[in-house]
Amino acid sequence: MNTPHGDHLAQLGVQLYTLRSAPAANEVPLMDWQTLRRTVAGCTRCGLQTTRKQTVFGVGNERAEWLVIGEAPGADEDAQGEPFVGRAGQLLNNMLKGIGLERSQVYIANILKCRPPNNREPKPEEAAHCTPYLERQVALISPRIILAVGRIAAQNLLQTDTPIGRMRGRVYHYGAHGIPVVVTYHPAYLLRSPSEKRKAWADLQFAQDVLARGRG
Ligand code: URA
Repeated sequence: MNTPHGDHLAQLGVQLYTLRSAPAANEVPLMDWQTLRRTVAGCTRCGLQTTRKQTVFGVGNERAEWLVIGEAPGADEDAQGEPFVGRAGQLLNNMLKGIGLERSQVYIANILKCRPPNNREPKPEEAAHCTPYLERQVALISPRIILAVGRIAAQNLLQTDTPIGRMRGRVYHYGAHGIPVVVTYHPAYLLRSPSEKRKAWADLQFAQDVLARGRG
């Protein structure tokens, strides 16, 4: 197409492609896994794209009964593109093993898909921009239970400012289907405060019980 008319059409094509590669927020709830994954990989909604190495979409069994939700990628996750791969991730794997779950059986995601610089806390507007992606992941997985690890995950997911210590040992509900949510400490916190591990162990057993009894 080397006529002026052809140039115009080609330009229009580029514009349309650009539009397609930046879907509107209201398109996210209808996306399939592939489209969602591609959309997250190209996301520039909150500004963290300027400091991330890559997005960290989530990993695991797309039909998992257990969905584990953490805070945001750290340096290791940013480098590898997978959530919970550093020391905290190893502890998370061991915590899951303790209740008979392999990492590959569950799905693991974060409130944020991008690493905040210097591992600072996610800003509310960053979490708000990222929320539709997590909501869609939850809808696609349709887990039977959500384990929120750490204060940031729990407070963002449940839209509360209740301290984490008061959220433990209770069953919350998430979304239109009321998926049960159990809250526990973040593995990074447990690495710093090993004496709290027994509480996390109790939380995991509680979550297992919630699932087994279909409680909620
Ligand atoms: N901490 C989190 O909350 N998520 C990760 O993926 C890694 C560390």
